[in-house]
Amino acid sequence: MLTGKTALITGSTSGIGQGIAEAFAAKGCNVVLNGFGDAAEIELLRSRLAAVHGVTVRYDSADMSKGEAITAMMDKAIAEFGAVDILVNNAGIQHVAPIDDFPIEKWEAVVAIDLISSFYTIRRALQTMKARKWGRIINVASAHALVASPYKSAYVAAKHGMAGLTKTVALEVAEQGITVNAVCPGYVLTPLVEKQIPDTAKARGISEQQVIKDVLLAAQPTKQFVTVEQVAALCLFLASDDAASITGAIMPIEGGWTAH
Ligand code: NAD
Repeated sequence: MLTGKTALITGSTSGIGQGIAEAFAAKGCNVVLNGFGDAAEIELLRSRLAAVHGVTVRYDSADMSKGEAITAMMDKAIAEFGAVDILVNNAGIQHVAPIDDFPIEKWEAVVAIDLISSFYTIRRALQTMKARKWGRIINVASAHALVASPYKSAYVAAKHGMAGLTKTVALEVAEQGITVNAVCPGYVLTPLVEKQIPDTAKARGISEQQVIKDVLLAAQPTKQFVTVEQVAALCLFLASDDAASITGAIMPIEGGWTAH
């Protein structure tokens, strides 16, 4: 039963995170949104979710590359709602470049946002989850937590790291009513993927059309993009009581990409 629980979703002002926030609000959860973007658009999203679903929705602009800001966001959410019952670590960025051309500051930013931020959110959320003997941590990893692709060294390293973090924390809290899982989407057409198409074309010396057909869709045996709604539905299931025995799972949702 998710009604009345509090879900904090990092990186939920766009793409997959926004879809997850919508899904939890629709189940009656209070929601904390986070991420960057146009202030008016974010306020529109916040007020729409609250009005349509009759739940409390807050927005926090914490930069997920900054540990202190993340801890302050978690403290504020816990002070207002009493706990973060469902934590979805979704914020992420991507940078595509050959390893010998990869700017170190980009490498560090990808690892900070896509991996290290979850260390901060998880540590603080676990305090209230342990007190309530119930909690759900869902890490939005990627098919790149399971397989590699050229020119994505930082992203692949961060997402593989997220899989390791997921399994380790799952074991540490398994007896306390808390599950920790990772979902691993294949390609979903969001701003993150749209932005990487020109860089991938450049790195591989092919056209943007070829990137879509021969790189993105070619990776997935279904030859279809995964949708935001499909990923959100999987997250809802993992948060449900029916999923209480699923923990430490690194769950593909990638059109068969990693079945090879
Ligand atoms: P997106 O670019 O649409 O959304 C990313 C979100 O993260 C936005 O809300 C953005 O503001 C936020 N964000 C970025 N940097 C931030 C920072 N420093 N602090 C706070 N928020 C920050 O991308 P998306 O495709 O929806 O990606 C969401 C997650 O899904 C990412 O972790 C990504 O790696 C993962 N993923 C995406 C795909 C895909 O094909 N789109 C596939 C697998 C995994």
